[in-house]
Amino acid sequence: IEQEYIERHPGSRERYERAVRAFPSGVTHDVRYLRPFPIYAERAQGSKKWDVDGHELIDYSMGHGALILGHSHPEIAEAVADQVRRGTHFGAGHDLEIEWGQRVCNLVPSVERVKFTSSGTEATLMAMRLARAFTGRDKIMKFAGHFHGWQDYAIKGEQPPFDGPPPPGVPQAVADTVVVAPVNDLDFVEQRLAAGDIAGVILEPSGASYATIPLPEGFLQRLREVTKKHDTLLIFDEVITGFRWAPGGAQERFNVTPDLTTMAKIVAGGLPGGAVGGRDDVMALLEFRDDPGWRKVGHPGTFNANPLSAVAGATCLQMVADPRVQRHADEMAAKIRAGFNEVLVRRGVPGFCYGESSVFHVMLGVECSNMTSGDLRMPEGVDPVVLKRGPAPKLSLALHQGMINEGVDLFHGGGLLSAAHSEEDIAKTIEAFDRTVARMADEGLF
Ligand code: PMP
Repeated sequence: IEQEYIERHPGSRERYERAVRAFPSGVTHDVRYLRPFPIYAERAQGSKKWDVDGHELIDYSMGHGALILGHSHPEIAEAVADQVRRGTHFGAGHDLEIEWGQRVCNLVPSVERVKFTSSGTEATLMAMRLARAFTGRDKIMKFAGHFHGWQDYAIKGEQPPFDGPPPPGVPQAVADTVVVAPVNDLDFVEQRLAAGDIAGVILEPSGASYATIPLPEGFLQRLREVTKKHDTLLIFDEVITGFRWAPGGAQERFNVTPDLTTMAKIVAGGLPGGAVGGRDDVMALLEFRDDPGWRKVGHPGTFNANPLSAVAGATCLQMVADPRVQRHADEMAAKIRAGFNEVLVRRGVPGFCYGESSVFHVMLGVECSNMTSGDLRMPEGVDPVVLKRGPAPKLSLALHQGMINEGVDLFHGGGLLSAAHSEEDIAKTIEAFDRTVARMADEGLF
């Protein structure tokens, strides 16, 4: 598999040799790292992208989840191109930011008012700060394995084994303000919140890493009750789930209303951007007031609500308000999950494909007790650490390379679907998986 991968991609290989001289390990985002070199893309449209060696790939990274309408959606592309000519930064308010903000408030149930940032990482940083300012408490609780970007308060306990020392470069004093709750452990949360020093609890409402470790039924409802009881703010990090799990995100799908919500990816329609929104009284901390004793929470940021992100975001949100967008992506993802599981069962290969909404995760070399040849939401009997880590490195590498050889680009050993993925894409992807798994078996990888 690896030999074929190398032979098929001379152009990417040559580019990587240049890239490693410019960037540590040659990549500009950790998740794009692939041995012996990643592929380099030239253009993208709809569900597809084309690499520099001329191969067409069905794409499941979809802008790391930002592109629920597919690559370069004609309406968004047109609106952005038009805006470039009118100006990319006014250093002033503009109509587009108002429209964008109103659309967020209208779509997301908990969002009474909103602020735009340049990324999801900045959005979680701001949400945590607002929670601390609102409650007068210093500590934030997060869950093992949940991803909230790369800022200092977000990364403790993100990677297995979840309870190690603070990640390199994070001061101990900062790490001490972050309490990591064990995977899906509500009893821990309840006991720890009773101490009364936790400002906010942040989580991905899908479960860790967009449903890699799914949440049990009723988890969000109970968490909502417990946080309310202890006057701790509940923060949903909807950077992935926002506008994907439903037009109003996971909070709409599960009917649980957080105090604050962080957004990015889809909210900015494929351009850089993020947002934090929520309760009126919490967002009020960002207001200017004449009262001389008032100390507001600051919010600068050169590219906040820049006209390009605003026009892409507003145009995108107008389209994703139609639930047929999410329904189509969900259906295509369910077909992938069922199709991959059918392949694994038929070939007698250990592994499973699972997920919810329009995402899927592939686990190889490990079995779950509720394996099916159909769709699977929650694999049972598998250690959450194993789920979060994904397949053994040699299996995930071979799967990723093998699928690229077959014309499919996975993301993180899984992927995110869009409204642009067709039945034909799905059928081709399942065939590609079938051939890749057969090839891996031939190479004695299982
Ligand atoms: N939160 C979640 C749930 C995410 O998935 C991500 C990005 N994958 C982030 C926060 C960080 O967003 P960004 O990459 O825009 O900083």
